[in-house]
Amino acid sequence: MIIVMSPSATKEDIDKVENKLKTVGLQAHLSVGAERTIVGVIGDKKIIGNLEMNMLPGVEKTVRITEKYKLVSREFHPENTVVDVDGVKVGGEQLVVMAGPCSVESLEQLREAAKAVKEGGAQFLRGGAFKPRTSPYDFQGLAEDGLKLLRQVADENGLKVVTEIVDKDDIELVGQYADLYQVGARNMQNFQLLKALGKAKKPVMLKRGLSATISEWLNAAEYIAAGGNENIIFCERGIRTYETYTRNTLDLSAVAAVKELSHLPIVVDPSHGTGRWQMVQPMARAAVAAGADGLIIEVHPHPEVALSDGDQSLTPKNFNLLMSDLGKIAAVMGRTI
Ligand code: PEP
Ligand code: MN
Repeated sequence: MIIVMSPSATKEDIDKVENKLKTVGLQAHLSVGAERTIVGVIGDKKIIGNLEMNMLPGVEKTVRITEKYKLVSREFHPENTVVDVDGVKVGGEQLVVMAGPCSVESLEQLREAAKAVKEGGAQFLRGGAFKPRTSPYDFQGLAEDGLKLLRQVADENGLKVVTEIVDKDDIELVGQYADLYQVGARNMQNFQLLKALGKAKKPVMLKRGLSATISEWLNAAEYIAAGGNENIIFCERGIRTYETYTRNTLDLSAVAAVKELSHLPIVVDPSHGTGRWQMVQPMARAAVAAGADGLIIEVHPHPEVALSDGDQSLTPKNFNLLMSDLGKIAAVMGRTI
């Protein structure tokens, strides 16, 4: 349930509402907007079902919420949330770009990639150190050595670090090096990992599962939020369909859906979304036009020798072209890049 306070409700009115909820064992979640305050109610469904709040002063109306996800829903929190990743704001006027290789391979590779990424105007260096590969015989990542390289090279270039976490026992380790945890598509419903990230101190980027519905995805985010970590960024990275020309089908309608259903920011990954470097630029443009808050893009100095995802990686030159082109679309959308 949400309790919509009237614009003239006083602080005492809101306190009374909160106290009443507390006395019956429910949690109040306040969203203070420019116009009015919304009180989200969380707890036992039966108690909420019998709750009578309309009589309290300052209450305009109560609305029952049918969806299971609450903290991440726009009903609970009507205004957009801007997630602050160590000073970089995701969900504000400026679009955020995360770029770098699929996997961290070596110091030389990462340095070349980071230089290009920085020159192009990205704020984050991406790169996997723990790689969830389809085959156990494929390159699995450099683990902690990869994390160290990421931090070092990002710092050399004034970039933030986003990297994937695949195991809840690595939260502390990855958190020592990363600014933003990435939950990959294959772990979107790893509920133990999500619960543990709910207790983590750093923000989380939650990629959409390979075949996840929007509702499953929002519920996965709710796991993180319910643990106390509400700094969540969604990432649409394509879903499995019957189409085989592309690696995945990039579902840009998810951007509009998430914007409608949630207050949290969303970025788009046109690299995994298509699997073909030739399609990255047009889909990046489309993502910005659809209202995405940013992009995550694979860039490799030598895609032909990449240890993973070379087919979908941009060269530094093509990344630069993409970035200069995006400014025009961003401007139309009232955003900067
Ligand atoms: C990645 O970002 O390199 C990755 C493995 O992505 P996804 O989880 O979307 O497949
Ligand atoms: Mn990849």
